[in-house]
Amino acid sequence: MTRLIVSIAGQELESLVSRAQTAMAEGADLVELRLDALTVAPTSLEAMAAHLPTGRWIATYRSRTEGGAGDLADALVGRLLTVAADAGAIVDVEESLLARDVTVSDPKATPIIVSHHDCAGRPESPARILAQSEERGVAVVAKLAWRSDTVSDVIEACRLMGERPEGRIVIPMGEKGLAARVLAAKFGAWGSFCAPDASSATAPGQVTLSDMWSLYRWDRINPETRVLGVIGSPVAHSLSPALFNAQFADAGWNGVYLPWRIDSEVELQDFLNDCRRQAWFGAHGFSVTIPHKAAALRLADDVEPLAERIGAANTLVHVSNGWRAFNTDYVGALVAIEMGMGLDSGEFKGLRVAILGAGGVARAVVAGLCDRGAIVTIYNRTAERAGELAGAFGCRIGRWDERVRLDCDLVVNCTSVGMHPQTEASPLPPEAFEHRPAVFDTVYNPMQTKLLRDASEAGCGTIDGVTMFVQQAAAQYRIWTDQDANPTLMEQVVRAKLTTGNA
Ligand code: NAP
Repeated sequence: MTRLIVSIAGQELESLVSRAQTAMAEGADLVELRLDALTVAPTSLEAMAAHLPTGRWIATYRSRTEGGAGDLADALVGRLLTVAADAGAIVDVEESLLARDVTVSDPKATPIIVSHHDCAGRPESPARILAQSEERGVAVVAKLAWRSDTVSDVIEACRLMGERPEGRIVIPMGEKGLAARVLAAKFGAWGSFCAPDASSATAPGQVTLSDMWSLYRWDRINPETRVLGVIGSPVAHSLSPALFNAQFADAGWNGVYLPWRIDSEVELQDFLNDCRRQAWFGAHGFSVTIPHKAAALRLADDVEPLAERIGAANTLVHVSNGWRAFNTDYVGALVAIEMGMGLDSGEFKGLRVAILGAGGVARAVVAGLCDRGAIVTIYNRTAERAGELAGAFGCRIGRWDERVRLDCDLVVNCTSVGMHPQTEASPLPPEAFEHRPAVFDTVYNPMQTKLLRDASEAGCGTIDGVTMFVQQAAAQYRIWTDQDANPTLMEQVVRAKLTTGNA
């Protein structure tokens, strides 16, 4: 069983103990107390230990050279950890301290963690460092953490944890390594560190205890759990992990959906190659968002004709010969319009539609509308892009400044104007609604954009972006699982997150 460890740092003993007790009550298997931040004498530790169950707390003294706040002399650190071990703690000793022949008293039946932190980046040979710690003899658990610059480090960390189940903790630190903290449970690590709450992380990339349980469903992760997630930059505030993990739970489908922050096409290529070559990792499928939808198409081994025609892929699934790419924005937008306007698929013919924007989403929306016989006019700030998109799908072009005099049945905003945090911006002035078109905003954060508020005030029917978001996700779920999703549940999750401002 991989232990869920909440790491707590603070200057005062009392608050440290009460926060540790709270974390245990909220589901932490162990708490790590960061002694390097304390301002009290080592002897106070015994008093503290009286309030903590033996063997359920880790005493850590992290030196400045390894990213902590500690600057005590080696001998004092040794004494401090010895007091902690005698008081019932599992101790975390830096490998470099042992290398300088500092002794920590025999921790008897409790294990000892020998750790190494590299704040500069990935060490040349993580395996060698772990082996070195393990060779110390005293080490029951070897821990290695490094500042990670690439998501491929997650696969490396999982491989190292899986090589010695119950014996290692390997952490690529930072946002790119977040998945390894969750997947530690799949690969049988000794433990995984998390934060007590969002404002108290003791290392970059830590997930909160409550997200470990309720978002990633820590207790459901096992060796067979499939690995999925959203690839993009930024992804930290994506709603997709909440939506998909809730769907997996509802269906009893064994998968975990994580954020994968990828900044360049090279990083994406390396990651997809690594997943392809290392099938044991269990990468099953990914959603792809800004800025990688075109790159996903280029890097896939096999592309469905629709995605090829659109020129963008938002879905990848791992199949026997590699990565297959799909576009589900197309179906998501069509279903949202059908539901919002009460149309069936045959009733799009002759519908006069104004599209604002000519980016990735516009391409999918335009493809769907043209396939169903709508008469589409494209307005885009950059005229060349409008011309290129109109040429690809045989639609009309309007000048960007002409969008204020629209005479059509439906307007679709495919620009990012009005998206959080620019919530008071709109791609259309209020006078553009004179002919009362239906207005569909693909932007879903916020749900009620300024465009939709103005349109509603002018008496237009409106469709927000959440339905499209949910429907494109439901189509992704079908691709990954061959099962139908529960869009009602997905929609509830997304609307609740957006309503509480938790997105
Ligand atoms: P994209 O490829 O970067 O395209 C952005 C579009 O917005 C371009 O046409 C761009 O015009 C235009 N634009 C940006 N800033 C503008 C401004 N200040 N004034 C006028 N036009 C501006 O992005 P995308 O992938 O198409 O995504 C666009 C939006 O769709 C996102 O912001 C997101 O909210 C929404 N979306 C919704 C869903 C859903 O499921 N509901 C899914 C994906 C995306 P230029 O060509 O002139 O730069």
